[in-house]
Amino acid sequence: MLHLYFHIPFCRQRCAYCDFVTYAGMENHLDAYVAALCTELTMLAVEHAACLALESHPSQIAKNTIFFGGGTPSILSLQQIERILAAAAEFIALEEAEISLEVNPGTLLGGTKALDYFQGLKALGVNRLSLGIQSLDDSLLKLLGRIHTVAEAKACFAAAHQAGFTNVNGDFLFGLPGQQIASWAQTLETLVLWGFEHLSLYSLTLEAETPLAQRIEQGVLALPSEDETATMYEMALAYLAAAGYENYEISNWAKKNASQNNENLLLACNHNLAYWLNQNYLGLGAGAHGQIFPKRYSNQVKITEYLANLQAGQRPVAEEIEIKASERFGETVFLGLRLTKGLTFAHFYERCGVDMRTIYGIMIGQLEDKGLLKITPTAVRLTPRGRMLGNQVFAQFV
Ligand code: SF4
Repeated sequence: MLHLYFHIPFCRQRCAYCDFVTYAGMENHLDAYVAALCTELTMLAVEHAACLALESHPSQIAKNTIFFGGGTPSILSLQQIERILAAAAEFIALEEAEISLEVNPGTLLGGTKALDYFQGLKALGVNRLSLGIQSLDDSLLKLLGRIHTVAEAKACFAAAHQAGFTNVNGDFLFGLPGQQIASWAQTLETLVLWGFEHLSLYSLTLEAETPLAQRIEQGVLALPSEDETATMYEMALAYLAAAGYENYEISNWAKKNASQNNENLLLACNHNLAYWLNQNYLGLGAGAHGQIFPKRYSNQVKITEYLANLQAGQRPVAEEIEIKASERFGETVFLGLRLTKGLTFAHFYERCGVDMRTIYGIMIGQLEDKGLLKITPTAVRLTPRGRMLGNQVFAQFV
């Protein structure tokens, strides 16, 4: 399977908590950037054709995937997205692929802009949307530096369904400054009422030197306690399970596909499954990463350098490293353990060419004794306690 990630590092303004590779006020480079993405894809696909062909063996991932992430992909015009997809169509049959695009509701304000945009995306073959909403509290949205209100986000979500999208994710944060348990409970209720097919709920990670981190360091704002944040996560687990969502990854929930006869078909994000299953993927764009075993690369982060490299006929690689076997073992385990069903021994063998119990038998036994892992004849997975202490478990394998 082939997995393509297009990084769109353009934002209207920077949010107060964000440390992603993204830039405000550089939209004048968008056309050149789109052309550069197409050039980079051709170069990469030709260079790694043999490696990528190896990925065509049967996989736990149902589809080829294309993911437009950011930054703010919804800053792209439909024509720009069409151009990128036309380049991708040289390597992937678009009609059978999962094609996801991240949307910031603040880029689609006014009149029927959201509906027109979503109808246009659908016509281009995009079949999954991920709405970055983050909170259902206008004062928190303001504090986070988001460029939309709750009402605008709700209208955007409604437009996505109206345009015919049946797989819409909502990205939300919890553990936000001043956030109360009661208001989080209300948020969960509202998310279920809106009817998202997929939810990604992450506890806020405070990134050093962001404006939000500085305000917290200065004592202007305060985060909920660790216990309160853990309670918010447990509430999400309980509430969303009761509402019919399956928590298939630590921070991700999906509904079953109502339009399919196969009741077991979850509307999970296949593209992210590729990361968690430690598959090869091609990352394109400024600051993007890619992995084609046994190598991993990261691109130039500055848009101007990225463009200059491609305009000079060179790949815009900042760093390329050889992934050691030991790193691949560790990464396969800690990524795979993020999945609720756990990591099968068969999958570890397929990715690493060795039995996981030979490498980690003693360690996983010790973690089972501590109540953090459950070992079955076919797999190993986190226990509920292990999920709460996930970082402690993952650290053992890094
Ligand atoms: S919209 Fe997303 S990528 Fe852009 S600044 Fe905000 S959090 Fe960062």
